[in-house]
Amino acid sequence: MHPFSYTRVSDTRQALNAARAGGRYIAGGTTLVDLMRETVERPDTLVDISALPLDEITVTERGGLRIGALVTMSEAAAHPKVRTLYPVVSQALELSASAQLRNMATIGGNIMQRTRCTYFRDVTADCNKRQPGSGCAAREGVNRTHAILGTSDACVATHPSDVAVAFAALEATVRLLGPDGKRGVPFADFLLRPGRTPDREQALRKGELITSVEIPALPQPLKSGYLKVRDRQSYEFALTSAAVALHMRGGVIREAKVAAGGVGTVPWKLPEVERALIGRRPSDALWTAAAEKAAEGARPLTHNRFKVALLRRTVERQLRIVGGTK
Ligand code: SF4
Repeated sequence: MHPFSYTRVSDTRQALNAARAGGRYIAGGTTLVDLMRETVERPDTLVDISALPLDEITVTERGGLRIGALVTMSEAAAHPKVRTLYPVVSQALELSASAQLRNMATIGGNIMQRTRCTYFRDVTADCNKRQPGSGCAAREGVNRTHAILGTSDACVATHPSDVAVAFAALEATVRLLGPDGKRGVPFADFLLRPGRTPDREQALRKGELITSVEIPALPQPLKSGYLKVRDRQSYEFALTSAAVALHMRGGVIREAKVAAGGVGTVPWKLPEVERALIGRRPSDALWTAAAEKAAEGARPLTHNRFKVALLRRTVERQLRIVGGTK
């Protein structure tokens, strides 16, 4: 392992100063420590932020939900407000990782986690994300689990987070604190598609700290849920997944929030599916027709063509689970 220094901070000012001096934030450490052991990541200084007061879940002034960046995955999944207002978030968290990891990993760290592409974690392989300009071993290699949406010639890796798919569907905002003050970034703009610079993964400025993720108030009652399809039933990443939230009144879908995981280089919002649902009455035919639009623009690779059909079926099934049929 590359030698590094370690400092623990107790307030955000100390954290920002340490980051300005080149430090790298760490909290639960469930991703970063693994990557350091494998020498994929080689930070010189770790700044432990786990003592910062960013571990609360609160209802916002407008009736949304603010989840502190240091709330653990298991705390967020079990919180009564999360469970009742946004079950899609609870379910996405509970279907992630193992119980031990969920007890350590934080919400901020979860959305910052790096891809599970095996070539990224193999320091002998060509990988533009790990070493810009070296190439992409996955394109001509084994790419069964890789992305079919949002890819570029430089990188085809998926984003591994489940809860990020729920946040993308619900159009959450990432709250940040940096040397220039506070700002909010819509979730759709926070995680970056690879383009020519797959090593740049988030819209973070130097030294910025995630303070919370804020879910907006959505019309209630809101039925929501998360479906994850994977090779085995636990401790596995998604081949495909679907986060769905529907608000229905008078037998008509008034609001629809839908996103997919396991298929995109970032959590993949599905506005065409949403548009196909709004203003319509639930029916089996509607779920099928809307889900047909889920894979529009897909560019499958040699080994992951099955994801096109699987994505449509995953979305259709989750629409039926959440929306029921008449
Ligand atoms: Fe690296 Fe991305 Fe290619 Fe994987 S898909 S090898 S992460 S450049």
